[in-house]
Amino acid sequence: MQNELKIYNTLSRETSVFKPLHKDYVGMYVCGPTVYSNAHLGNARTYVSFDIIYRYLLHLGYKVRYVRNITDAGHLEGDRDEGDDKFAKKAKLEQLEPMEIVQRYTIDFHEVLKQFNTLPPSIEPTATGHIIEQIEMTKKILANGYAYESNGSIYFDVEKFSKEHNYTILSNRNLEELLNNTRELDGQDEKKGRLDFALWIKAKPEHIMRWQSPWGEGFPGWHLECSAMSSKYLGSEFDIHGGGMDLIPTHHTNEIAQNLACHHTQPAKYWIHTNMLTVNGQKMSKSLGNSFLPAELFSGNHQLLDKGYSPMTVRFFMLQAHYRSTLDFRNDALQAAEKGFERLMNGLEMLPKLKSSETSTFSVSELIEKVYKAMNEDFNTPIALSHLFDATRYINLVNDGKETLTEADLKNLTNFMNSFIFNVLGLKAEESNSGQLTDDLMQIIIGIRAEAKSKKDFATSDFIRDKLKNIGIEIKDSKEGTNYKIG
Ligand code: AMP
Ligand code: ZN
Repeated sequence: MQNELKIYNTLSRETSVFKPLHKDYVGMYVCGPTVYSNAHLGNARTYVSFDIIYRYLLHLGYKVRYVRNITDAGHLEGDRDEGDDKFAKKAKLEQLEPMEIVQRYTIDFHEVLKQFNTLPPSIEPTATGHIIEQIEMTKKILANGYAYESNGSIYFDVEKFSKEHNYTILSNRNLEELLNNTRELDGQDEKKGRLDFALWIKAKPEHIMRWQSPWGEGFPGWHLECSAMSSKYLGSEFDIHGGGMDLIPTHHTNEIAQNLACHHTQPAKYWIHTNMLTVNGQKMSKSLGNSFLPAELFSGNHQLLDKGYSPMTVRFFMLQAHYRSTLDFRNDALQAAEKGFERLMNGLEMLPKLKSSETSTFSVSELIEKVYKAMNEDFNTPIALSHLFDATRYINLVNDGKETLTEADLKNLTNFMNSFIFNVLGLKAEESNSGQLTDDLMQIIIGIRAEAKSKKDFATSDFIRDKLKNIGIEIKDSKEGTNYKIG
C-alpha cells in the first residue's frame, strides 16, 4: 500500500513500522470477554477497535490468524486472586449451573458483536477447553523455578522473576511504588510476596468448577489462560497482542511474566491497547453502575438517552475517535454521528448515478492516498473519515455539475469508496427506517390536504382521503388536528 503501516506499541512506547515475524502472515491475540454478564457498550468499543485493526490488516493483504478467547473460568472478582469466582457467584444468584451462565452470556456477546458487524475471529478458544495446557504451563514455570506451591495452590514468584527481568516493562510503573500500593500480606496469606499471583488455585469444597491437577483439585488463574492459549495457537512469539488499556498493569503484565518464565521469550512483538469508553469522563464499567447495554442504546430505552441509535450509527460514532483516545458517551455526539453516517452513505449511493466527463477537476488518487496515510498512522480512523467526507463533498459537487471526473477516475473512486467503507470500516447500509419514512410522507400529504381544505378545494381534499382509503390508510379529522391509521 502507498505507505508503510505504523503501529503504536505500548511495550516500546513508540510508533514504529509494522514488520511481522513471518512475511505476509500476522498472528494476533486479543483478550476476550469474561462471560458472566451482558457485554456493555465499553466492551463493544474495544472489540470494534480490534475489528478495524483486523480488517485493515486483511485489506493490506496479510493472512491473519486472529485468536480471541472466551474467559469462562478462573476470573475472580479482584483481578489479583481475591474475591469470589465471577461465574460461581452469578450462578448462585440466578440458581443456574456456572456453564449455563457461560452459555447465556457467550451467546449474548456474539449477538452484540454481530449487530456491530464485526468479523468473527479465526479461533475462539475457551479457558475451560484448555485446562491441560494451563496445567502443563504451570508445571514448566514451577520447574524453571519461578513459582511455588502453597497449600494446594501455585503462585508465581514475582520477587524472584524481578531479579532477572523487568516485571513492570509494559506498564512502566515503579516496582517500589507498586509494592507500597499493594495490600500487605497477613498471617492468613498463602503468598510469599505481595505481588505474587496465582497460576493454579485450590478449589474450596463448595467450588463447582474444579479440575484434577498434580496439586489436587482446583482451577487455573485468570492470567494463565491467555498465556497458554496464545502460545498454543500462535506460538511462544507472535506479532500482536491486544486488549483494553485497563489490562496493562495486571493481566498483561502477568502474561508477559508467565511467558518469560515458561518459554524464555516475550510473547508479542507489538502490544496494542484500546482506550476506554467513558460516561461523564468516568470509565464505563459494570461495577461503577454507569454501564449500559447495546440493546438499550439501539432502543433508546435508558435514562441517559434522548432516543435510540442504530448499530451502524454507533459503530460510526466509535470510528470518529482514535482507538487510543477516550471516547465520551454523549447524546449530541451520537446525533452528529447519525447525520455523518447518513451523509457518507448518501454519497455512496450517488456514485453510480454520476456522469463522467472529458477531464477531472480534482485528483482522486490524492484523496485515496490521504485516506491510506491516515490508516497507516496507527489506524487513524477519525482522520480517514474526514478525508472520506471530502470525497463525499466532491461527489455532491460532481452531481451538481460544479466539478467533473473522467470515466476512469469515477470508476477508481467508486471502487475505493465501496471497498474502504464496507470492507475496512465495516460499515453497512442499514435497512431503511420505513416506519419513519411513511410517517414523514403522511405528514406531507396531510399538509397538502389541509391546504386544499383551507382554500375550500374540497375536490382535492376528498380525492386525497379516498385514494388513501383505497390503500388502507384512514384519515381522521378532529379538533386536535388530523391523524391517520394504517390497516
Ligand atoms: P472483561 O469482560 O471485563 O474482561 O472485558 C473485556 C474487554 O473490554 C477488555 O479488553 C477490557 O479492557 C474492555 N473494556 C472494559 N470496559 C471498557 C470500557 N469502558 N471501554 C473500553 N473497553 C472496555
Ligand atoms: Zn487475556
